[in-house]
Amino acid sequence: MSQARRIARWVNAAAAVAALLVMHGAAAQPADCPREGTLGTSRVLSVNPKNYPRVGLKSFPDTLPLQDGEVVLTFDDGPSPPMTNKVLAALARECVRATFFLVGQPASGRAELVRKIAAEGHTVGHHTYTHAHLAHISPDQAIEEIDRGIAADEKALNGVETTTPSTPFFRFPYFESTPATLDLLQSRGIAVFGADLWASDWRAMSPQGTLKLLIRRLTQARKGIILLHDPQPRTVAMLPAFLRYLKDHGYSVVHVVPANREQSPELPHEQHSERPAPTTPHEGG
Ligand SMILES: [Zn+2]
Repeated sequence: MSQARRIARWVNAAAAVAALLVMHGAAAQPADCPREGTLGTSRVLSVNPKNYPRVGLKSFPDTLPLQDGEVVLTFDDGPSPPMTNKVLAALARECVRATFFLVGQPASGRAELVRKIAAEGHTVGHHTYTHAHLAHISPDQAIEEIDRGIAADEKALNGVETTTPSTPFFRFPYFESTPATLDLLQSRGIAVFGADLWASDWRAMSPQGTLKLLIRRLTQARKGIILLHDPQPRTVAMLPAFLRYLKDHGYSVVHVVPANREQSPELPHEQHSERPAPTTPHEGG
């Protein structure tokens, strides 16, 4: 059987199992983690923006120090009920921690959901206020979008409207960075997350098509920061099967946190991903 057919067959079986779990499984809680038989989070990676100001090979020459088989799961564009809740449930079933890059405007009306994301152990990063095209507006407007977004997310999270993010992680909508905004974020100690691979889950495709595409890209890349979108129904539909795929194929999930965050007690933790500040251009070529 060809590799493609084997994957297709496996995807169908995994999707059926995942659907059964969703229908019949008791709601899993992050508090029950770690739990035998789940994918789990293999380690926590502290990211210091001073050492990793820009990561993700889609836009930048550098990325996070991941080993073969290690992935970081990131979800953009939420919070968006009920889809975000379903993503949280799928992650809880597999005891996996991810990073959510929130849009400030929807976050400001959904403080409870924003706090739930954080309470379940996930990292909350920032993704502007209205998901604007920052490369197509003036530098001042771009900075305003970034700051308003951070302030709205922080207000939802902690009740304090501040432009100093408690987690200094930011992702540009549409990967549209500009030299001015990159400089600004770096000067403020905010790490910019691009992505190493993605599911193209914004494109009109079936959940199975999205899953197959993502698996194909992961099989090639073997590791990396994966970009997904929690408001997308196709992503919600395929996520349980994708997490099962990761487990069955020996991948492990790394949870990124800011370097100053308290250590999570049950997980192996790298205190600092310290290394010399990157030179420009990228030292590794
Ligand atoms: Zn986005």
